[in-house]
Amino acid sequence: MSTTQISDATSLDDASTPTITHWFAGAEAPSASGRTAPVFNPATGAVRANVALADDAEVDAAIASARRGYEAWSTFSIAKRQTVLFAFRELLNSRKRELAEIITAEHGKVISDAMGEILRGQEVVELATGFPHLIKGAYSENASSGIDVYSLKQPLGVVGIISPFNFPAMVPMWFFPIALAAGNAVIVKPSEKDPSASLWMARLWKEAGLPDGAFTVLQGDKVAVDGLLHSPVVQSISFVGSTPIAQYIYETASKNGKRVQALGGAKNHMLVLPDADLDLVADQAVNAGFGAAGERCMAISVVLAVEPVADALIGKITDRIAKLRIGNGADAAEPDMGPLISAQHRDKVSSYVDIAEADGATIVVDGRGYRVDGHEDGFFFGPTLLDEVPTTSRAYTEEIFGPVLSVVRVKTYEEGLSLINSGEFGNGTAIFTNDGGAARRFQNEVQVGMIGINVPIPVPVAYHSFGGWKKSLFGDAKAYGVHGFDFFTREKAVTSRWLDPATHGGINLGFPQND
Ligand code: NAD
Repeated sequence: MSTTQISDATSLDDASTPTITHWFAGAEAPSASGRTAPVFNPATGAVRANVALADDAEVDAAIASARRGYEAWSTFSIAKRQTVLFAFRELLNSRKRELAEIITAEHGKVISDAMGEILRGQEVVELATGFPHLIKGAYSENASSGIDVYSLKQPLGVVGIISPFNFPAMVPMWFFPIALAAGNAVIVKPSEKDPSASLWMARLWKEAGLPDGAFTVLQGDKVAVDGLLHSPVVQSISFVGSTPIAQYIYETASKNGKRVQALGGAKNHMLVLPDADLDLVADQAVNAGFGAAGERCMAISVVLAVEPVADALIGKITDRIAKLRIGNGADAAEPDMGPLISAQHRDKVSSYVDIAEADGATIVVDGRGYRVDGHEDGFFFGPTLLDEVPTTSRAYTEEIFGPVLSVVRVKTYEEGLSLINSGEFGNGTAIFTNDGGAARRFQNEVQVGMIGINVPIPVPVAYHSFGGWKKSLFGDAKAYGVHGFDFFTREKAVTSRWLDPATHGGINLGFPQND
C-alpha cells in the first residue's frame, strides 16, 4: 500500500513539508485552493505537514466524486458489498499498528490508546458486515384481501461525516461502515488537526475493492463543512464535535432538509457512594480522567464524592497520579499519557485551572507548566487534581477537555444526582457503589444518555448505540447500532395487488379500507 511519507518537519515554511491532500475518485487529489493549515506532532511541537483546506470548487469535486461512487456502489449486490466489508475488516485488523502510529504522530495519544480507538472502531466494521439482517425490511402477506404490504430499506445516496480531532479513526468508523453497508457513498471531512487517518482508511477501502468515490475524503475547515451543509446532493450529515458547532450543524442541515445527527461536548460525572471500593474508584477515576490526556468526550471530569469518602479518595488518586508517566506516545518506553492537541488548547486548559483557583478551588496536583525532558516544545500539560471546586465556577460548568479532574464533595446521593441532572450536557456518567438498589435507582433517575455502573467510560458496544442527551446530542438518531442502520437507510412501503379475476373489484371512490 502506498503511503505519503511524512516526518516531523521543523517549520511551516520548509519547502519539503508535505501537504496532506483530499481523496477523490479513488486517488490523492492535490488542492489548488491556496489555503492550508499546519498539522503538528503535539509531542514535539514540530509541524509535520500542511493539510489542504478545500475551497468551494474542491467541495464540488468531492461531491462529484461521491456521486460517481454512489452510482457504482449502489449496483453492488448485498453479497458483493459484504465481501468488500469483510476485506476491509481483514486489512484493518492486520495493519492497525500503521494506523495507530499515524494517530499518535498527529493527535499525541499513546500507541496503546490509539490501538484501543481503532479496535472500538473495528467493532462497528464487524457489526456492519452483518448488515443484511438489519436492512432486510419486512413483509406482510395478505394485509388486506389479495394485498401484500412490504417495506424496503434503501440507501440515502451521498452522506457527509464530519469528525473531531480526538478520535480521528474511531469517530469516522462510528458511521462509515454502516453507511457503506447500507449502500451509501460517504464524504468524510476529518478534523484539520489530524487529517491523515482518514486518508489511510481511504487507501484501505480501495484495496478492499470499494468502487472509486464511494469513500471520498474532503480536507478542510468551515468552508468544506458549509459546502456539505448547503449541497442538495448530500442527503445526511453525521457530525461529532463541540456543542456550539454541533448546534450550528444541526440547525443548518435541518433547515436545508437533511437528516442530521450532531453529537456535542460533555462534562461527565462519577458519583461515588460511601460503600464503594475506593481503590477501584481511584484506579478508574485516574484511567477515565487522564487517559488520552482527558481529550475524550467520555472522560470523567468531575468526581462527586459522597462524604465521608473525599479525603481518602483524594489521597488514593494523588498517589496514583504520582506514578503516571507522561511523554511522547511514540516512545518505546510506552508512557501512560501524551500531550494535548495544540499549544492553544494547552493554554485554554491551563486557563480553566486558573479560573478554578481564583474561584476558591484547592489545587491538589498542579499540571500547569508541565515539561517533558527532551520535548520542551511539546504541548504537554500535567495531570491536575482539584478539590472543593465551586459548582458555580466555569471550571465546573464548562467542558475543559484536558487532564483536569475536579472533586466536588456532596453530602448525599440526592445532592450528587441533582448536580448531574442540572448540567447542560448529558453524555456519560458513572456510579460507583456495591449497592444494587442505589445503582438501579441511579440508572432510572439520571438524565444522561450513557451510564456506567462501576464502569467509568461506558461507551456502548457496537450493537447498542452511542449518544448522549441534552446538549451532547442534537437530532433523534444516535451513532451506530440499530440507530445507525435506521439513520443511513430510507424506508419505502409498497402495497401490492396482483389482479386475480376471482376477486376483481370494480369502481369505488371511497378511501381504501382493509378487509
Ligand atoms: P470542533 O467542534 O472544533 O470541530 C469538529 C469538526 O467541526 C471539525 O471537523 C472542524 O473542522 C469542524 N468545525 C470547526 N469549527 C467549525 C465551524 N465554525 N463551522 C463548521 N465546521 C466547523 O471539535 P474538536 O475540537 O475537533 O473536538 C472536540 C470536541 O468534540 C469536544 O467538545 C468533545 O466533547 C467533542 N466530542 C464529542 C463526542 C461525542 O460523542 N459526543 C465524541 C468526540 C468528541
